[in-house]
Amino acid sequence: MDCIFCKIIAGEIPSYKVYEDDKTLAFLDIRPVNPGHTLVIPKAHAKNIFDVSPEDWAAVTESARIIAAAIEKGVNADGVNVMMNNREHAGQLVDHAHVHLIPRFKGDGLKLWPQKPYPEGEAESTAEKIRNALT
Ligand code: 5GP
Ligand code: ZN
Repeated sequence: MDCIFCKIIAGEIPSYKVYEDDKTLAFLDIRPVNPGHTLVIPKAHAKNIFDVSPEDWAAVTESARIIAAAIEKGVNADGVNVMMNNREHAGQLVDHAHVHLIPRFKGDGLKLWPQKPYPEGEAESTAEKIRNALT
């Protein structure tokens, strides 16, 4: 399979690894938002959050929890953003599921996405659509 993250797992492409266990691997993003920006991935190939198994997702999120603390301590950050892009129009460029851990520093100037209030009645109808999709 032509997947760069599977090649990183296999050691065919070099990476700066920071953590590994039987189900997950974490390594530095090659183009960091800030130094210490880390990607946590399942070792079993899965395209995105819609595709990953519950067991692997649980393992990835637990690794992310452990590594977030290590990043904050290790690079003396003031906070950490946990982020995941799923599918092309959500900004996913590499089709192997990965969670971004991005150390943040006071005054680093990065902005989060813009937010806006719901128009009248739209919150209730939107919540209902999601509740219905769960059943
Ligand atoms: P996405 O946009 O899919 O959420 O993020 C993919 C991330 O993978 C990007 O932040 C990009 O810098 C990183 N990336 C792409 N290719 C490589 C690579 O070969 N090695 C490493 N370490 N990171 C990569
Ligand atoms: Zn892969």
